[in-house]
Amino acid sequence: MAVATKILLDESELPRRWYNIISALPAPPPPPLHPATLAPVGPDDLAPLFPMALIGQEVTGDDYVDIPEPVLDVFRLWRPTPLIRARRLERALGTPARIYYKYEGVSPAGSHKPNTAVPQAFYNAEQGVRRLTTETGAGQWGSALAFACAQFGLECEVWMVRASYDQKPYRRSLMQTWGATVHASPSDVTEAGRKILADEPDSPGSLGIAISEAVEQAGARDDTRYALGSVLNHVLLHQTIIGEEALKQMAQVGEQPDLIVGCTGGGSNFAGLSFPFLREKLAGRMDPVIRAVEPTAAPSLTRGIYTYDFGDTAGFTPLLKMHTLGHTFVPDPIHAGGLRYHGMSPLLSHIYELGLIEAVAKPQRECFEAGVLFARTEGIVPAPEPTHALAVAVEEARRCAETGEEKVILTALCGHGHFDMTAYDHYLSGEMEDFELPEQRIEQALTRLPNPQL
Ligand SMILES: *Cc1c(COP(=O)(O)O)cnc(C)c1O
Repeated sequence: MAVATKILLDESELPRRWYNIISALPAPPPPPLHPATLAPVGPDDLAPLFPMALIGQEVTGDDYVDIPEPVLDVFRLWRPTPLIRARRLERALGTPARIYYKYEGVSPAGSHKPNTAVPQAFYNAEQGVRRLTTETGAGQWGSALAFACAQFGLECEVWMVRASYDQKPYRRSLMQTWGATVHASPSDVTEAGRKILADEPDSPGSLGIAISEAVEQAGARDDTRYALGSVLNHVLLHQTIIGEEALKQMAQVGEQPDLIVGCTGGGSNFAGLSFPFLREKLAGRMDPVIRAVEPTAAPSLTRGIYTYDFGDTAGFTPLLKMHTLGHTFVPDPIHAGGLRYHGMSPLLSHIYELGLIEAVAKPQRECFEAGVLFARTEGIVPAPEPTHALAVAVEEARRCAETGEEKVILTALCGHGHFDMTAYDHYLSGEMEDFELPEQRIEQALTRLPNPQL
């Protein structure tokens, strides 16, 4: 019997609209608040940072948002992306489970990030913005935005977390090739960066610090806006194209997932894959368990608290109700740079609070072990971030090998690791360490919450 390995969609089946899950939820998520007045943030507060179209998407109650034709046109360079049955991995594990992965590494930047970078660049260009600033952790988001800005003729300036800047020089080259300017963060270009450097000249940086720098620069110039690669509602909205395609592809082979598993940094690839399936689950049409996997070094869902906190380290952003380790928390420099964030998307945090998803944390060596097994069986070298999801998929498939359960596991292989070979060197040479995260470090960061009463 021939069973499909690679499940492809025709270009004509490219989704034409994004899915907004908010109205399907039993309760709406709490709004972002202005840090001084504690009133809900309005469009005027956000206008210096984002174009109006994205602000509209941030607060929309519509179930679907049409994808503009120029955006679809860029997407056609690599979308629809393949869904692949991991038969060789299944065989190596001796499992009766069926493992499917949605592969987002086929994009120009090598991850899911262009799914939101392209519409963000489009809406900014449409409004007459000339320059975008942003932060990047592992370099994935910065390269996605650099690519997207090149498509729509925008300048792009990127603050890259120092730890990644040193570990991944070729991500920087990639951004520069697409025409972007790149700073190591903390940098001496901004007030926020200079403040951190004065306290700690060797700071490895963090996403929170880099966000402060990029936001500061966007606020300083009229022709400049800021772009965020995760966390916000409009970013999660754009990523739902992953799940909409995956739904069609699973249906094509007559499968429904029993477990959907994804890695979470700010939550966007996980939400992008899972929200269309969660829509089906809430409507009673399927019943998958949906599980987020985060690193033990930045465990915002599993060890953080659910409260209002800043999205960045310096405290420039609105207050977001989310699972947080405290905005001053700086995660250890694990290789999965895209997962080193103190908070979690407010929408995903809310959905977690509603009990609609689960979360677990994994140490990096177990993740790389799964990543290497995946590379040796399936061929693709995963980015360090999705190895977290693979570790849980492997764990579950091994459990099925013991119980004989024929579970269907679906995961997002949200990026390839071709720029992360230093991390693999580290793992293969046996030098990689797992970081213990003492409770005291979390407690300490939580003493500096902006308003513990909220
Ligand atoms: C940015 C990134 C992540 C983390 O961000 P999410 O918003 O949680 O998806 C994970 N994997 C890859 C490959 C990334 O580039």
